[in-house]
Formats: sequence, structure tokens, C-alpha cells
Amino acid sequence: MAKFYLTTPIYYVNDAPHVGHAYTTVTADAVCRWHRLLGDDVLFLTGTDEYGLKNSQAAEAQGVHPQLLADRNSERFRAAWDSLDIAYDDFIRTTEARHGNAVQAFLQVIYDNGDIERDTYQGLYCVACEAYYTPDELVDGNCPIHGRPVQLLTEENWFFRLSRYQQRLLDYFEAHPDAVIPPTRRNEVLGFIRQGLADISISRSSFDWGVPLPWDPAHVAWVWFDALPNYLTAAGYRTDSERFAHWWPADYHLVGKDILRFHAVYWPAMLMAAGLDPPRCVASHGWLLVSGEKMSKTRLNQIAPGDLVADFGSDATRYHLLREVTFGSDGDFSYEAMVARYNADLANNLGNLLSRVATIVATKCAGVGPPPRPQSPLASVAAEVYAATADGWGRLVPSDALEATWRLIREANAHLEANEPWKAEPGTAVDAVMGDALEALRIVAVLASPALPHAAADVWRRLGLPGSPVDQRLPAAAAWGGYPGGLPVEKGTPLFPRRK
Ligand SMILES: [Zn+2]
Repeated sequence: MAKFYLTTPIYYVNDAPHVGHAYTTVTADAVCRWHRLLGDDVLFLTGTDEYGLKNSQAAEAQGVHPQLLADRNSERFRAAWDSLDIAYDDFIRTTEARHGNAVQAFLQVIYDNGDIERDTYQGLYCVACEAYYTPDELVDGNCPIHGRPVQLLTEENWFFRLSRYQQRLLDYFEAHPDAVIPPTRRNEVLGFIRQGLADISISRSSFDWGVPLPWDPAHVAWVWFDALPNYLTAAGYRTDSERFAHWWPADYHLVGKDILRFHAVYWPAMLMAAGLDPPRCVASHGWLLVSGEKMSKTRLNQIAPGDLVADFGSDATRYHLLREVTFGSDGDFSYEAMVARYNADLANNLGNLLSRVATIVATKCAGVGPPPRPQSPLASVAAEVYAATADGWGRLVPSDALEATWRLIREANAHLEANEPWKAEPGTAVDAVMGDALEALRIVAVLASPALPHAAADVWRRLGLPGSPVDQRLPAAAAWGGYPGGLPVEKGTPLFPRRK
């Protein structure tokens, strides 16, 4: 059994969950669900990032202790993920004791290895990023990410000797061409490393909301040095060596392009300094834009995932996020596009296929589903669809995977149109066509289940099949001929009622 360890970024608790967070987390969830269907041993980690100046300032602005703000907002992320049926295996909070201990152990190893040293630094600092920028990285004198002014800071701090890792990182990426995807982002990372890597300040003494350095408790760890190791903590770093050997390195870190540098440059170097392997792949996705602008707290264009779920339901919201945006590129979110895609793909294609099949089976087959034909014209389509669907999920491009799966739905609808079983007398010919359509629906239920867990289970049940799609194992469950026939087929209410 293969292991599959995938992480989302941990989200800052100064912010409420918005559709941008949901996009990353739904993608992670669907990819993990696909790997569970393959029979892989999956660890799916998400969580919240609770220390650091940004969270401390947000708490101060609200007049509460940072832990209270963290407790409150971490719960909002959990609630959002519950509403979207996110089946994470672990939800980590960086203020948990298990994490503080792991961070201190990690820092101590690097310190003992001689790659953390005391130094003075002056630079241009963006509080929102909690990072320094060089003057030529600024855009009109402002932070390139936030578009806000930076401050000139002088600090006597502890520094991580990132500069010592420049060649090792280049060698690593040379030897591991898939360590950063897509290729445009890999080139960006290589370009950044080739410009030359400066040492980074990894401690703060101006505030105390963080993990104290074990050898100098007057300093707390820079928030990224405390956030990134969450991926180690959840894998059992320094608490369970057998567990850690099983899960580490992580297979995928899913990240937005704004935090690529931290994950693809700083993090691999930190791991090397601690004698650990870098993650197998950092997969960088684009931003979900609203009217062409990045969603952010400061720009007030956030959409709460809960509002979409209340309006469209969890499955349709998940489907839209997975299908509308090509992973790796920026996507534009609009309500109109969401309604259009819902009607086209869910109501008209999938919903309509199920409803037609159930209606014809009720009237022409006495409500009992006939078995499919081994030589059905849909059999070869199903085989191609499975291959293309597996390829899409395997490349972490859910939009391709779903497009492939939907081909089987379209072809099954076309198969009905071509044969017009509703016009024929009950008998062998109608049974043959309907058995094929039922089998196509069975396969669709399995292949679409990572995106639409509820609807897939509902289709499965209405076809009279025992168990549920999540209990199935691929590739066997996608092989033509799995629908046994002789099962009661239920029509029920529309799976996805059309919207205006
Ligand atoms: Zn910034």
C-alpha cells in the first residue's frame, strides 16, 4: 500500500475563511479522496497558523488575548471545512503543545549543526508578510504582495544561514525536476535562488507571541520558522520515529503562489539543515480572483464559503471550485459563472441522466435495473474516461479529471438519444440500453465521488447498489460490468434542481 501525505497551508487566524482558502482546501480534500479510492494510505493535514506579529496585532485591535482570537478563528476554519465535507485526518494548531515541542526540537538541531547564529540586520520589512524585501523587489516602494508600505527595521537577531544552501538547493532541484509544479513556478524558484540567497532573521524579541528559542527564551521564533514545521509535527517528528519514517517526506504541499518562496526555498533549506529530506513536491496554485483582484482581508472582496454552501450546497460549491479553475493558473470567481456551470454540468448533464434512466427503468423495466452488455459501445468510452480521470487527479489538475469523467455522462446521454428507449416496447433491446446507462452511472458515481461525495452516494443508493462509492477501490471499481442488474432503481427528487 502506497502512502500519500498531502498538506494545505495552515491558515492565519487573523482572517476569516474565504473562498480562496476553500479553493485550496477543497482541492486537497478531493485529491486525497481520489487516493483513498486507489487504496493508498492517506494522511491529509490542514490547520491554523496562530503565532506571529500579524495575529498578535489583530488580537490587540479587537482587545482580546491572541489565544482567544486564535481559538475563535480556528473554530471558524473548522466549521467552514465541516460545511464543505473536508475529510482531513489531522487539524493542527500551531499553539498546541505538540507543535511547540516539535518546533523547539527542530530549531535546536539546526542550532547545534551551526546554521543558526546571532547577527545584526537592517532591511525593509512588510508586517503583513512578516518578511523582508530587497529594494528592487518592491513595487512602487510597496510590498509586492500587499501593495502597502514597508518599514526600515534594524534588528539584532538569530539568523538562519540560508546563504550556505544556495548550491545545495540548485543541485536538489536539478536532480528533482518535479519538486515544484507547475514548471513556470519551478523556474521562478530557480531564478530566485540564482539571484543569491541572503541569511534570514528567524527570531523576534519585540513581542512574545511565539515559540521561545530553546537556547535564548528572550526571543520567539519567526512565524515561518514556527509555521512550516507543522508538516513535521503531524507526521510524528521527535515523538514517534516509526510514524515519522512512514510519512516523511510529505508527498505534496499545496500552496498559493504568494507563499511559494517560503515552501520551495526556505523550507527545503531548513529541512536540509536539520538533516531531513525536502518534500517530494510543492504544488503551487494560482489565486482565485474576484473581478480580477486577489481576495484578501485588506481589499474587502472576500466571499465566505458558508454563504456559497448555504446557497448551492456543499457538493455544488466543491464542484465549482474544482472544475472552474485550472490548478496552477489564476481563476476568476463569479456568481454568474457558478450558476451557469451548475446548470450545465450538474442539473442538465448528471442530474438529467439519472432522472431519465430512473424514469425509463420505472416505466419500461418494472423499476428493476437490467445488467449492462459486456460489448456495450460505452465500455470502451468508460475505459478511456477512467484513464483520463486518473491522469487528471494524478497531475493535481482536478478540472481535467472532472472534464474527463463528464465525458462518460455526455456519452451515456447521447447513447439514450440515439436509441430512444422511451419510444420502444419493453423487452431485450430496451433492457440492453438501460443496463449500459446504469453501468455508466455506477462508474460516474465512483469517479465523481472525490468532488461530489453526497451526490455520488445518492446515485449509488438510487441504483440499488450496496455500500457506497467511498468503499470502492480503483481501478477495479471502474471496470465495465460491475453493475449486477436485478436491483431496484429509485427515481426520487432531482439530484440538482435547475437554478435560474
Ligand atoms: Zn506584504
